[in-house]
Amino acid sequence: MKIYKKGFNYCFDSDACNECAGNCCIGASGYIWVSPDEILKIAMFLEMSLDKFYEKYLKKVKYRFSLREIEYNDGYRCMFFDTQKKQCKIYSVRPAQCISFPFWEHFKTNIKEVENECPGIVRL
Ligand code: SF4
Ligand code: SF4
Repeated sequence: MKIYKKGFNYCFDSDACNECAGNCCIGASGYIWVSPDEILKIAMFLEMSLDKFYEKYLKKVKYRFSLREIEYNDGYRCMFFDTQKKQCKIYSVRPAQCISFPFWEHFKTNIKEVENECPGIVRL
């Protein structure tokens, strides 16, 4: 299914996810920002106490939190990426940053970057 978003000179073919290795959840290290509301939702989904969740899955970056990553192949992966199934273990409660991929403001002027990462990008 092709998804379009106003202001972007590409669309996203979600069928590409079926064949992809999960490129948006693995690779170079980056930040996977989570808001307090999202933290609460994910912890509840995992049936974990907030204390345990903070300890195991979050890293503090100044005044914000990011999901932790771990080494994977030649780079890193999000801790919630299932390497067997090649999918997100918390898909229904994943952060807004993940939901909005590949339509990030940054990519409006850096289309090559998102093309290299995501095989579902189709230029318009
Ligand atoms: S990189 Fe693109 S095609 Fe691959 S899993 Fe992520 S959104 Fe889907
Ligand atoms: S939370 Fe899920 S969708 Fe987001 S980076 Fe981690 S594995 Fe990928």
